[in-house]
Amino acid sequence: MDRLVIASSNEGKLREFRRLLSPLGIDTIAQADLGIADADEPHATFVENALAKARHASAHAKLPALADDSGVCVSALGGEPGVHSARYAGEPKSDARNNAKLVAALAGAAERRAHYACVLVLVRHAQDPEPLIAEGRWHGRIVDTPRGSGGFGYDPHFEDAATGMTGAELPLGRKNALSHRGKAMRALIAKLRDPQWQ
Ligand code: IMP
Repeated sequence: MDRLVIASSNEGKLREFRRLLSPLGIDTIAQADLGIADADEPHATFVENALAKARHASAHAKLPALADDSGVCVSALGGEPGVHSARYAGEPKSDARNNAKLVAALAGAAERRAHYACVLVLVRHAQDPEPLIAEGRWHGRIVDTPRGSGGFGYDPHFEDAATGMTGAELPLGRKNALSHRGKAMRALIAKLRDPQWQ
């Protein structure tokens, strides 16, 4: 595989993907650069949505495709916003309104635990019956006051359990070392390098 379409138009994700994939020497192209619109993500699980996105991008690009479905799962909210993270506060998508809604939902709560979840799906072609699938989680807690200017999405309010820094305070390389997406990508790369999956 020397060329791969990335089934996302989220600039934050694309930045992280480019860095994570750079050691592989695969030529990556974002679906928007090929004029491919975002796929619908109607499903109740990350894996189903990621598969739908990967198949959609691969069918239109006629290339292998990599998709990510991810979100923040908050214990006190029964796992929400979860797969609804991107549009938690409705349309149009807005990180600012999503974060405001999340902070309001946890107002006064002592239980602040949360984790980010990421499922990556790679299809070699649109009908691939054996997609490569990898997952990652990142544990932390939701803080009321935003900190940091990096990352994207919920990062200013997500405090990493290990370092006490928010996702937005961590430089990109350190975020990738800790994050749900970084862990999933390392697991996927291990599969890509393992002859049994080729
Ligand atoms: P989707 O996978 O395109 O449905 O959107 C995932 C959503 O989850 C993003 O729009 C963010 O709101 C949130 N999210 C996923 N990963 C991260 C992350 O690394 N940092 C901050 N927010 C994230």
